Order: sequence, then C-alpha cells, then structure tokens
Amino acid sequence: MKSIQENCGVFGIFSQAPCASDIYQGIDLLQHRGQEFCGISTYDVRIHQTTHHGKVINSFTDMDLEHLTGNWGIGHVSLKERQPIRWIANQGELALAFSGNIINSEELFREMMSQGKSFQKAYDVEIISKILLETDDIPTGLTDLSGRVQGAYSLVILAKEGVYAARDAYGFRPLILGRCGNKYAVASESRALENMDMEVVRDVRPGEILLINGNGFTTLGRLESPRRAHCAFEWAYTASIDSVMDGMSVQAARNSIGAALARRDAEEGGLQADLVAPVPMSGVGHAIGYHGFSGMSYQEAFLYNRYADRSYTQSTQVAREKMAKRKLSVLHHSVKDARIVLCDDSIVRGTQILHKVRDLKRAGAREVHVRVACPPLMYPCDFGISTRSYDELMARRYMHQGDIKTLDMLRQLEAWVAERIGADSVKYNSLETFIQALGLPETDLCLKCFNGVRPTDL
Ligand code: SF4
Repeated sequence: MKSIQENCGVFGIFSQAPCASDIYQGIDLLQHRGQEFCGISTYDVRIHQTTHHGKVINSFTDMDLEHLTGNWGIGHVSLKERQPIRWIANQGELALAFSGNIINSEELFREMMSQGKSFQKAYDVEIISKILLETDDIPTGLTDLSGRVQGAYSLVILAKEGVYAARDAYGFRPLILGRCGNKYAVASESRALENMDMEVVRDVRPGEILLINGNGFTTLGRLESPRRAHCAFEWAYTASIDSVMDGMSVQAARNSIGAALARRDAEEGGLQADLVAPVPMSGVGHAIGYHGFSGMSYQEAFLYNRYADRSYTQSTQVAREKMAKRKLSVLHHSVKDARIVLCDDSIVRGTQILHKVRDLKRAGAREVHVRVACPPLMYPCDFGISTRSYDELMARRYMHQGDIKTLDMLRQLEAWVAERIGADSVKYNSLETFIQALGLPETDLCLKCFNGVRPTDL
C-alpha cells in the first residue's frame, strides 16, 4: 500500500426527491480518495447526520439512509477524520465537509484559543467552521476564509437555503458541477457524477463561491485568484482514471506520461524487453501509454484481488504490507523467463516497489526494468495529500539537500534506486517531461512535492 493517499472527497446535491441514496452512491464513487471515515448530512427542517468509521458500502445501513430524510445534503469520505461536522449559529443549522489542508492552522488555532474559542480536536474543518461562524452569512464567511487561511480547500456547506460549494483561489483540489434535469450536484471527481447518469457541467472555478438550490447553480462570488495551482499528482495517482478535471482526462494524462517514459527509452538506445506491465491499479494508465508508444506487448504481471480489501485501512506498517501482498498476486505464467518493464505512478519510500520487483524475480522474471511516471518525490505535500516526512522519501535519502537539476543527476539517482530495490534499471520522468506530458501549463500546476516551490509563495 502506498504511503501517499488523498485525505478526502466531498459530494453535495440538491434534488426534488429524497437524496440520501444519491449521496451514498456519490461518496461510494469517491471512496478511493479516503477509506477511513465516511459521513452524510441531509436537510429536512433540521439537519440529519450519520458518520461512520469504515468504508461507505460496509458502514451505511438501509436504516441509516431512511433516517437521513430531505432533498438536499452533503457527503464526505476521509482518511483522517469524521465529517461532515454540524453546528447551530446565527445563520441557522449548518453542516460542513471539506477536502484539503490549512497550512497556517497552528497559528489560527492559537489565535482563536487566545480569543476564548474552544475546539474538540483542532482539525482544520473546525478552524474553517469557526471562521465562517464569525460572519452573518455564508458567502461573506467564505470570502473572509480566503483572507485568513493559507492552503487548499474544496468544500460543501449544507444550509436551509441549499448547498454552498467553494474552491480555494488556487484550485488545488478538484471540484466538479453536474446536473440531471432539475437535480444539481457537486463532487470531488467527475466519475461520481457520470456514474450517477448526471451530465458534467463544468469545474467549479478557483475562488468561486456557489449556491446550489431549486434555481440551479448560482455564482455568489469569485475570489481573486493569483494563479492556478492544480495538484499535478491528481492526474498521476490520486484521481480515478475515469475522471476528468480542469479540462484534462486522467486517462489521457496517464497514457501520455507513460508514453514519455517509452520515448526516453527509445531516445536512449531502446530497451529490449518482452512485455510492459503495471503495478495495479494506478500504474495501469502509464503502462498502457508505454505500450502505445513502444509497441511492446502489454500484459498483467499481477492479479488485483478485489476481495482482499477490509472495511478500513490497516493501522500498522506490518498489517499494511500483509494487506498489500494479499491484494496483488503474481501471474506466474506471464512473468516466468520474461524481461519486464514495470510501470508505477511514483516511488515514495520504495518499500512497495522493492517487494514487487522481488516477487517478480522470485516468480522467474529474467529482468525487471522499473519506469516511474512522476519525477522523484523530494518534498512533503502541504496541501492535503498525506505524504510522509522528508526522512521517508526515498529520493531524499539519496540526496539530503537540494534538487535533481540535470539529467545526469537523475541518472545517478536512478542507478542508486535500482540497486536498492533490486531492479535491472529504473527511470523516472524528469520534471520537464512530466509537465509536457501532462499537457497543462506549468503555471497552472502545483509541483511542490517535486520542486519544493509553494505556489502560494509565488
Ligand atoms: S505538493 Fe504535490 S501532492 Fe501536494 S498538492 Fe502539490 S502537487 Fe499535489
């Protein structure tokens, strides 16, 4: 199991009929963005709310959904905390769910504590709520929020007048609008809309504040947006391959990133191998791209065991490794005596890829050449993806300070990684080729985990 995971997915809907089962379906379709907690709030004279520890499909019962009455509501999946949270204030009864990370939360927390405010757990979502509660109406609160918090957020707020949706001014985390007749929805990914037979209308724009109600979508405000900073990692790993965000299909992006790896192999003299295979599931799009460019045979080297999953994420490293092993078993017939190009989205600590290379070699693979879609991860994320500390990043163990600035430096790192994971060769995309392959302007992207530059500091 990778040690980079998204923290949250959000969903909101305004319908003309009871909406609890729509929200259930919506957050189930966002489950890949967070597997530890899930929750639904609906509005029907007052707010009804249920949250669970576990996955959506294992947690919500028919009785839960029956009690969640009302035609509009919000939902959330998370790796770290129960959401939505609800409160009663001047504005009435409200519930809030958010995806992202507040960088200056410590500072805001101390400031608010000194003003006599109290917190249950000091989660970012509580800090956001307290800022919103200081104003008389939600749109003003959301405008104030952008002036006080630094970081990334896509959020939904449930109120008697409908569902508010907002995205931070940089657009770090995705948020998409959809509709079907007079039913309107907003979701962290387009797949949650399209798989519910809703038409995707557009992305919520960076800095946009929206209200969804019986009148459809109404833009209530647009915060000044210094630049865009869409998380590049969404296209390489986090998002589901059937989603489209900020105008770019995840599948097309992954195919293109994989093709860039094959192009580099071709330019550097070609690689003699028998097949290209993915580390399931996030390596699939990259491996198909590699296959498309190189013409090399595409075959699965691992079987993904869809029944191996448990209702919630394993809490220890040993348990996670056991689960990872149960999830992927080697397809011996494909790999015996084969020279394999193995595509993965990224290398974080290097433990997972080391095990995969070892499994393939034990099964009789003659050679394993690892191709990595993302450039080396050199910095932890500050904007809502739970990356680990510097110490845990494999590339940082090789290079304690500074960045990989030249192809020669990249090649030296690749040789070092190959030796440590037991691969016959390793190649990453350089930052330059990764951005080119992604097909979005560099100035619209956050690349901080690769180059250390916080878009909010530019
Ligand atoms: S630092 Fe990396 S993972 Fe975090 S938002 Fe930026 S690109 Fe995404």
